[in-house]
Amino acid sequence: MTRRPLIAGNWKLHKPLGEAVSFTQELKSALSPEEVVVDVVVGPTYPVLHAVSQAAEGSVIQVAAQNVNPNESGAFTGEVSSAMLKEVGCSYVIIGHSERRQIFGETDAFIEEKLQAVLNAGLLPILCLGETLEEREAGQTTARVGDQLSAALANVSAEQAANVTVAYEPIWAIGTGRTASPEQAQEVHAHLRSQLAERFGDVANDMRILYGGSVKPTNIEELIQQPDIDGALIGGASLKVDSFTTIIQTAQRVFQQS
Ligand code: PEP
Repeated sequence: MTRRPLIAGNWKLHKPLGEAVSFTQELKSALSPEEVVVDVVVGPTYPVLHAVSQAAEGSVIQVAAQNVNPNESGAFTGEVSSAMLKEVGCSYVIIGHSERRQIFGETDAFIEEKLQAVLNAGLLPILCLGETLEEREAGQTTARVGDQLSAALANVSAEQAANVTVAYEPIWAIGTGRTASPEQAQEVHAHLRSQLAERFGDVANDMRILYGGSVKPTNIEELIQQPDIDGALIGGASLKVDSFTTIIQTAQRVFQQS
């Protein structure tokens, strides 16, 4: 089964309007639509989503929001709905990032609601899962990410599952410079895919599972060579056009050689 790789940048709380637009323009120039055979996504902050979507028009770059509220409208001060994200040009939504789980107290149940709302709106969720260092050292990694996966996909049909991307992001590897080894990541990805297969059958072979956690130009190749690693969700190295482009081009070369 050949899954088209996805390389996604999570800009977190970085890049105000001017910087976000000029980054997108530069990236657009670096990636010729005829030559790019991987999916490329950038994840700006809410206020600049529309401008980034417009700057990306006519290119291979797609836009992700970093968060969403599951409600369609109502008295939810400070929140944004899936329909609003779609209207400003988003295709993807990052859900359940560990920073949202840890800093903003998002629960598995809330993440499940968000995932369902995103799918119902016709957007593509990137569902983040990952264990802490303590959980890994206690041998609880697969149980922890397995539980997060089951909870988030509790009400998802096999048809909807085809539109879900999973991102395995060990918390101890995010922004720390410490990456999971390709073997450590592959072991978890294979476990996640077998869990997806139990639930959704053959659809699991089409679902992308990204790795995230200190991905850089120097380690993307060995990660993406793993059979169940279908791309990357990238924080720090997605903030510079050069490093992000190198990661995209490396993923593309490995994909074309496979
Ligand atoms: C992330 O925030 O999803 C991430 C993986 O960050 P970094 O690449 O900086 O570790």
